[in-house]
Amino acid sequence: MSKASAYAAFDPTSPLGPFHVERREPGPLDVQIDILYCGVCHSDLHTAKNEWSGTVYPCVPGHEIVGRVSKVGADVKGFAVGSLAAVGCMVDACRTCESCSEGLEQYCDRGETTYTYNSKDKLGPGPVTYGGYSSQIVVAEAFCLRVSDKLPLAAVAPLLCAGVTTWSPLKHWHAGPGTKVGVVGLGGLGHMAVKLSHAFGAHTVLFTTSPSKAEDARRLGADEVVISTDPAAMKAHASSFDLILDTVAASHDLDAYTQLLRRDATLTLLGAPQHAHPSPGVGKLINKRRSIAGTLIGGIGETQDMLNFCAAHGIVSDIELIPIQQINVAYERMLKSDVRYRFVIDMSSLTAG
Ligand code: NAP
Ligand code: ZN
Ligand code: ZN
Repeated sequence: MSKASAYAAFDPTSPLGPFHVERREPGPLDVQIDILYCGVCHSDLHTAKNEWSGTVYPCVPGHEIVGRVSKVGADVKGFAVGSLAAVGCMVDACRTCESCSEGLEQYCDRGETTYTYNSKDKLGPGPVTYGGYSSQIVVAEAFCLRVSDKLPLAAVAPLLCAGVTTWSPLKHWHAGPGTKVGVVGLGGLGHMAVKLSHAFGAHTVLFTTSPSKAEDARRLGADEVVISTDPAAMKAHASSFDLILDTVAASHDLDAYTQLLRRDATLTLLGAPQHAHPSPGVGKLINKRRSIAGTLIGGIGETQDMLNFCAAHGIVSDIELIPIQQINVAYERMLKSDVRYRFVIDMSSLTAG
């Protein structure tokens, strides 16, 4: 076992601060990664503050991890010491059920998905998994991703959650040329949704509560921007969307978006707010056989496909690089929708000074 430096939440309300975690000695199929960068997802904040309940403290968040391999087990085939590697939202699952066999480990039928942090640590040393706000992580090769050395590495990190979480529904609901896709909220997930939807060739419309983000949204790939607090602007898009991705991190009125769907189209929820959305109006759904769905991150195979696509198309996240000591300020800004468009922690700050 080795000791890794980390930052942890110690209770729901105090600021995050320095901590140490034990990492297991790499087994034959494990990869040990020295973490270079870790993105800051709103899920980190929900978990640190126990907004979904069930947080085990101390909690080390972080599931947008990129780094360099520093040790490999004897049977590891795909990674060598010195190569780049990445870890996303999961580090294990049952690997044999129907969903796992289909490459959808996040929907493991046995409920054995092990998330990168705050999950029971079956492979040890536990008691729970500790995430990427840390100098090092040890992961099974099967849950380790390959990243291109052609892209700026810090800006690749957010692809590991924000990228694949928006990639997966865009693929599942066939976003592409001839489709009209809405994205609600221009934060970490939202800005990746805009970039990917645009890259898939869909007509992409961004809904935001922040007029100051409109220009950026167009630069990121939105064909149109709608200020969602403007009823006339919303009405202009009635019954016209094939798919809407809702990334908002707070409870809000879903009817405002279901009525923008055409017949048989889908509003899919990505945002996972602490408090439930007000119940949607049945009339708006039955009227045009519209659906409200939900979607959770993406499988390991999908994540690798997304990383390969982004490398081929030069797609990365727009980031603000921060030292770990600024994580509490970053959380405060995230709560004010003041993210442009993903904070990424430079992990060298963890051990500097
Ligand atoms: P984020 O960077 O904080 O972005 C959220 C955006 O939602 C804001 O920038 C803002 O955009 C909009 N928003 C509108 N009203 C808001 C309010 N009252 N409070 C906060 N945001 C508001 O968050 P994120 O990292 O993209 O994550 C978004 C949500 O998705 C979180 O709930 C997170 O836990 C969840 N998530 C889900 C999955 C999944 O697998 N389903 C994966 C990752 C994250 P505008 O300023 O443009 O209005
Ligand atoms: Zn995330
Ligand atoms: Zn499974």
